[in-house]
Amino acid sequence: MSTCSTCGIGHVYYRREHEGASLCRKCFVESVERKVRRTITKNRMLEPNDTVAVALSGGKDSVALLRILSGLERRFPSAKLLAVTVDEGIEGYRSEAISISRDLCRDLNVEHLVVSFEELFGITMDNVASTQTELQPCSYCGVLRRKALNEVARRVGSTKVATAHNLDDEVQTALLNLMHGDIERTFQSCSSSRTESKLVPRIKPLAEIPERETMLYAYAVGARFQSLLCPHGRDALRGDIRVMLNRLETKHPGMKYTIFSSMERLSELTRKARKLRDFRTCRICGDPTPNEICEACMMLRALKLSAASTQTPLTVRSD
Ligand code: SF4
Ligand code: ZN
Ligand code: ZN
Repeated sequence: MSTCSTCGIGHVYYRREHEGASLCRKCFVESVERKVRRTITKNRMLEPNDTVAVALSGGKDSVALLRILSGLERRFPSAKLLAVTVDEGIEGYRSEAISISRDLCRDLNVEHLVVSFEELFGITMDNVASTQTELQPCSYCGVLRRKALNEVARRVGSTKVATAHNLDDEVQTALLNLMHGDIERTFQSCSSSRTESKLVPRIKPLAEIPERETMLYAYAVGARFQSLLCPHGRDALRGDIRVMLNRLETKHPGMKYTIFSSMERLSELTRKARKLRDFRTCRICGDPTPNEICEACMMLRALKLSAASTQTPLTVRSD
């Protein structure tokens, strides 16, 4: 059996093709944590006095993220970490995740908040999925979850929101936006840190860790994470992009990083132009938006209209 190319002692747990490295479990875990620290430093994601709200869904990525950040917190004693789980209202799916998240936070001694779509917006994702809508349920879910996290982070005085998007998520999203002709988002999505006015800045410390590695990391540290799949997750195009990128990566190791770096460079070029954009205040909720009404409020309004026309018992709070 071959031995680890870093320490020369341990048995090989993972072979990182694009680096030509064969790593034992311990060296693999350390290399992932080191890479996350590098991403944080390179993008100046954290300040010593930050209060960071970690979006904890209970999946492998967010569980790995919270474990890594809680290790970092010990190095920054004046920083504060808390975890936020958003309950989208998906019967039989979220309860497992909430219990995993609660146990993890108790073990790591991290404050844990749970907030629901129902409480914030008066809807559940089960309602949305059973309503005839223009977009896939995931499109509504993503926008509303972002809004929910921002809202909670603001309420509790967080200075950053950390999400567990990994390298695969970032590259897939960028390509999806490109295919949908959303040029601005294409180059925004890969940016690891976002600092638009009034929105709590969002950081993505796992943006340079491939999905396969976040999963192996979670297994390697013995973490428990959600096993159930969401019944509403049917984004077929994203699935196809995922398969295509994985094929490319197998044939050309490091391809996901190459695409990611290109997106980052293009993002840098368009950052100036974005800064010049005139941000206004949403007429309904007061959040910053380039339009008169923000995307989340537009969606809530569309859901309300759609529910009314199909007579679905969807309750969306009125403006
Ligand atoms: Fe929401 Fe889609 Fe994720 Fe389900 S799969 S939790 S609907 S984003
Ligand atoms: Zn080793
Ligand atoms: Zn709004």
